[in-house]
Amino acid sequence: MERTLIADTTQKIDETVKISGWVKTRRDHGKIIFIDLRDRSGVLQCVITPETNNYDEFKKIRPQWVLSFTGKVKTRPEKLINQEMVTGKVEMDVQDFEILSEAQESPIDISAGEMNLHIETLLDYRNLSIRNEKVGAIFKVYDEVLKSYADYMRSQNFLEIKTPKLLSACTEGGAEFFKVKYFEREVYLAQSPQFYKQAGVGAFERVFEVGSVFRAEPHVTSRHVNEYIGLDAEMGFITGPENVMDALEETMKHILKNVREKCQDELKIYGADVEIPEKFPRIKFSEALEILKKKIGKVMEGNDIDPEGERLICEWAKKEKGSDFVFLTNYPWMIRPMYVMPDPENPKETFGFDLLYRGVEIASGGQRIHDYDQLVENMKKKNLNPDDFKNYLEIFRYGMPPHGGWGLGSERIVQKILGLKNIKEAILFPRDVKRLTP
Ligand code: ATP
Ligand code: MG
Repeated sequence: MERTLIADTTQKIDETVKISGWVKTRRDHGKIIFIDLRDRSGVLQCVITPETNNYDEFKKIRPQWVLSFTGKVKTRPEKLINQEMVTGKVEMDVQDFEILSEAQESPIDISAGEMNLHIETLLDYRNLSIRNEKVGAIFKVYDEVLKSYADYMRSQNFLEIKTPKLLSACTEGGAEFFKVKYFEREVYLAQSPQFYKQAGVGAFERVFEVGSVFRAEPHVTSRHVNEYIGLDAEMGFITGPENVMDALEETMKHILKNVREKCQDELKIYGADVEIPEKFPRIKFSEALEILKKKIGKVMEGNDIDPEGERLICEWAKKEKGSDFVFLTNYPWMIRPMYVMPDPENPKETFGFDLLYRGVEIASGGQRIHDYDQLVENMKKKNLNPDDFKNYLEIFRYGMPPHGGWGLGSERIVQKILGLKNIKEAILFPRDVKRLTP
């Protein structure tokens, strides 16, 4: 008999079908055994009685065993209907079963509604914890974010590209790069696809990439890991950084709209609501500093806005503008990479921006320099040697339109949508300073 998906059993009342999946829970009531069987589509209550074939063999079956059940789908008695579940109106009277795979006793309670485990324990047992329904819900939301991103970019005529992750030089500079041995020499793991995206603009006008980014962040924070998936984009023929912000804003709205529509069950599990502001407020970096100083009494040390500052600016945006998002524009030249376009009216500032969402930066972007001489000059001003960037600079010798783009962190989006304390919860198998397994 062909397998029926559990979610489809609601359409098969009084029919005999075969379902397959994992034992989620087992409850014994005298001689009657209730099994909640889980497959990719849902969970179904299955009833085993002494009439079931090989009933005695059923004694040894425990959670996580993989089984096939053949039996009749029945509507449950009125008072036993579970409104919370799609399949709560039906159950299966099991006639026969087949063991597809046995399972040892799990070291953690996978079936628990709330795992209540320390994050490190949750991650130590990642192979198992991702089988939990609440943990699994995170990855359904993540799937929707990835899908919506790619769909939207394509709908806007961006071409999907994949760029190399083994590089001969580090793109972003700084100290956050990994060195790896590459045959007889050393190379760096890509900290961003920046240079290749720009080459892509030279060829295709609009490109996007969903790809691994490696950052040797030595600190343990709730929003950094050493390997994450970046949602990058770069677009040509812009007239200013506003075009890039517009595109990013529409992209985020599209992602959130889809998550809100298609992940209702998952959002409910986390008590999360998705609010989509009509317009994302845009304020200058310098104005943000003023707001922090005046309204919140926080003076930033150094040039950048620290995580606490980002949180406070988001609070301000929520209160004053009713928005979970806020763009910070015109970032200081000092703290932006050499490829970011300086503001011609005020060279201390750039056309670089950040997008903050619910207290954290989720994206950085901006207009880039597209003129060869200007780029060389800017490199020198940043004490970089243009000779180290020969391949990159070549792009600008052969005609580059005004362009810009962004790097958006996929995991931070999911973390913030669901209100997860740590970004690592939003990653299937996270990597940080202390973790390379499982
Ligand atoms: P932060 O200041 O928060 O460390 P960043 O400015 O160094 O971030 P960018 O180089 O601007 O990061 O990268 C673009 C986006 O990629 C960030 O806005 C963020 O969403 C994501 N991102 C950056 N670093 C990490 C990381 N270590 N782990 C997870 N996501 C990251
Ligand atoms: Mg940034």
